[in-house]
Amino acid sequence: MLPVIALVGRPNVGKSTLFNYLTRSREALVADYPGLTRDRQYGRVRRGERDCLVVDTGGITDVDDGIEQFARKQVEVALQEADVVFFLVDARDGINAADQDIADFLRKLGKPVVLVVNKIDGIDSNTVSHDFYSLALGEPVAIAAAHGRNVSDLLARIDELLPAQSDDEVLDQEQGIAIAVVGRPNVGKSTLVNRLLGEERVVVFDEAGTTRDSIYIPFERNGQKFTLIDTAGMRRRAKVSLLVEKFSIIKSLQAIEKAHVVIYLIDAQEGVTDQDAHILGLVLEAGRALIIGINKWDGLTNEHREFVKKQLDIKLTFLEYAEKHPISALHGSGVGKLFDVVHSLYESAMIDMSTPVLTRILSDAVAAHQPPLVGTRRIKLKYAHQGGRNPPVVVIHGVQTDVLPGVYKRYLMNYFREQLRLKGTTVRLVFKSPE
Ligand code: GDP
Ligand code: GDP
Repeated sequence: MLPVIALVGRPNVGKSTLFNYLTRSREALVADYPGLTRDRQYGRVRRGERDCLVVDTGGITDVDDGIEQFARKQVEVALQEADVVFFLVDARDGINAADQDIADFLRKLGKPVVLVVNKIDGIDSNTVSHDFYSLALGEPVAIAAAHGRNVSDLLARIDELLPAQSDDEVLDQEQGIAIAVVGRPNVGKSTLVNRLLGEERVVVFDEAGTTRDSIYIPFERNGQKFTLIDTAGMRRRAKVSLLVEKFSIIKSLQAIEKAHVVIYLIDAQEGVTDQDAHILGLVLEAGRALIIGINKWDGLTNEHREFVKKQLDIKLTFLEYAEKHPISALHGSGVGKLFDVVHSLYESAMIDMSTPVLTRILSDAVAAHQPPLVGTRRIKLKYAHQGGRNPPVVVIHGVQTDVLPGVYKRYLMNYFREQLRLKGTTVRLVFKSPE
């Protein structure tokens, strides 16, 4: 599981500033895509060994303005799903009653809490931080989120607080091809899972309290092993109060992380929502092979079908690589074909690429289209080798690659995808130059 950090604190302490700093993707290829808006609530933090997820609880309360109780419930859910809580306070304001209330709440929560004193730029951090010891939440970390100052110290705390985890991001080979079925509530995930399994599911008990765990269902089809990661679970069968919708974005993101292939369902009757676009952006950041299942295709007029297709093209330009399939989970049309698609995406995501082949593709790409001169700097791209799978990673060695423009990177990425005949997956490029 990816560690989950929740950002809490009263309004204006700098939660969204810190969130933005943490999630601004270092992957220019991702950031450059037109149409890719970042979610204000959920993001991915890239850092050395292991990425993590971050939730801005302020974003949650803001979004649901008016429905206060619901918003508070969502914050509670977010905190329950978190591994570490970053509690932000404002160095300039000092402690106030609202901070005290939150501190009381957090002490009872029983999760690791890091007290973060923000906005220390331009003030004497030594004197200020001292007041905050009285919150009895341990040693504060003083930062300036707006400038990224000391944020790395903050991230280092995560490793201190969390037990070292084994590197089991994706299910191991024995479990076959891992497929995550993801999408907003009511898009038809349970219906599709049942269809894919070919029978009505046995009722499994919903584990109390854990909203972030998916259900893993191993099965075989034509001699091929699969594991379905079912994020819908037994939601409808469990006793769920109306307000506590058990849809958990964290759970979806963890399932995506574990998968080889993601089937993201959208409801064709509703079209692509902003939340769909946000989660899909995170699928791209995770680098997972992706099928967009346009569900509930049955019973739509031709006009509506055209409208949905067009909307997909406009709203999801950053997902050109994804396979798009209209299906009806209810009636089964298009569902059988999904297995073949899953299979070919898996092959693409797990492809083995030899150094000579990658280097040849690189030199062909460069011969067809030279990297530009940046100022007086001549960029050279020399050779390439494989750096990973799921998604395929190509490490390119050269000179001055640090100034390679985003458009050229994207050109290379498309070139590699085409030449390697990759289906439904991105290829991640990593550039290396000598200092
Ligand atoms: P939130 O309501 O907790 O999400 O707070 P915001 O992130 O919206 O920040 C509130 C205000 O504090 C904004 O005007 C920010 O520009 C400012 N701010 C955030 N971080 C810093 C910082 O490190 N230093 C300074 N001086 N201002 C900051
Ligand atoms: P989940 O919340 O994503 O697991 O969604 P469900 O599988 O529970 O489906 C929500 C509702 O949509 C149910 O009433 C399903 O019968 C209906 N539904 C699911 N797939 C389809 C479909 O392909 N066509 C139509 N018309 N309805 C569907």
